[in-house]
This record gives sequence, C-alpha cells and structure tokens, in this order.
Amino acid sequence: MKKSKVRKLLCKIGIHKWSRKTYIDYGSTSNVKNWKRYCMICGKRQSWVQAKGDKERFRGK
Ligand SMILES: [Zn+2]
Repeated sequence: MKKSKVRKLLCKIGIHKWSRKTYIDYGSTSNVKNWKRYCMICGKRQSWVQAKGDKERFRGK
C-alpha cells in the first residue's frame, strides 16, 4: 500500500513508470515511425514520431 502511494506521487510530479516502447511502422512508403508508450501506474499515454534511419536530421529539426 505504501509503495503504490509513493508511485502515484511520482506520477504527479511527472516521473512515470513507462512501459516498453512500441512503434507503428506505416510501411516502406513512410519515412517515420510512430512510437508509443504508457505509464504502468497511472495509465498516461505518450506518443511521438521519429524519422527512420536519419537521427541527425530529426535532431536538427
Ligand atoms: Zn504515471
């Protein structure tokens, strides 16, 4: 009980316990991947897009 209270507190201040990242690949015609993950404590979801095979360009944007 004590532990879960602490975890929820961490979520409140933005420190989530993220699940494994999974991605959706839209196929070879797409040059981006859509990553998703969620918090295993509060269920918060997060998603972002990453360019395929070209991290430098993505970072420089
Ligand atoms: Zn959370």
